[in-house]
Amino acid sequence: MNFVRFRERDHIAYGIASDGEVEEISATPFLPFEPTGITHELQDVKILAPCLPSKIVAIGVNYRDHAKEMGREPPEDPMFFYKPSTAVIGPGDEIVRPPNCELLHFEGELAAVIGSVARHVPKSRWQEVVLGYTCAMDITARDLQNKDLQWGRAKGFDTSAPLGPWITTDIDPSNLELVTTVNGEVRQDSSTEQLIFDIPALVEFVSSYITLLPGDVIMTGTPSGVGELTEGDKIEVAIEDIGTLAATVRGSHV
Ligand code: MG
Repeated sequence: MNFVRFRERDHIAYGIASDGEVEEISATPFLPFEPTGITHELQDVKILAPCLPSKIVAIGVNYRDHAKEMGREPPEDPMFFYKPSTAVIGPGDEIVRPPNCELLHFEGELAAVIGSVARHVPKSRWQEVVLGYTCAMDITARDLQNKDLQWGRAKGFDTSAPLGPWITTDIDPSNLELVTTVNGEVRQDSSTEQLIFDIPALVEFVSSYITLLPGDVIMTGTPSGVGELTEGDKIEVAIEDIGTLAATVRGSHV
């Protein structure tokens, strides 16, 4: 099932997308809901980021090949940082280069969307708290990341967290192909089976430190092939069984 959040004129709602249509539901996917019978053509609505996270927990250096290209040893424990709710944009929106950034990088990632309050969730019960999956980009001001001790601005600036196009439920996330293209050229092509820490392990580890709320997002990390974005670039992250998330790059915040 694909849960989509969308705007139709002044109206924002959640719905279930299939066959080019979306049927509105009576609440969010994080609450009990009923189908309403109200349908729209998907092409007639603006698809928004599929959730409004209180926080994004992003995992660093979680693919073996990416650790190698960054010259880092695979970590002993998952390493996580935060991207704020205000970093989120939706499908087709613009990534805006932040101030003082000369090296803007893309990272295509699989994201898990939390469906219910998660605190001290053992690995064996991860499925009880994950609603589904979406495509994500962890857009990074690489020069600022290398310069700063904390990554607050380098990975948390406005527009640095494209999410979408929807939350796909009932799929196995353990072996999904992930392909990132820039202007149609393949730059990352890997599989989630290359993850150092898989989603059950991440749910257990992260929820042992912080409470995850419905709508929160875990970005699982990026494979090798990260690279530079420049003004006008079109970036797409396609994940098997989910779909494709696209964004374009604007050169400057002014
Ligand atoms: Mg990342």
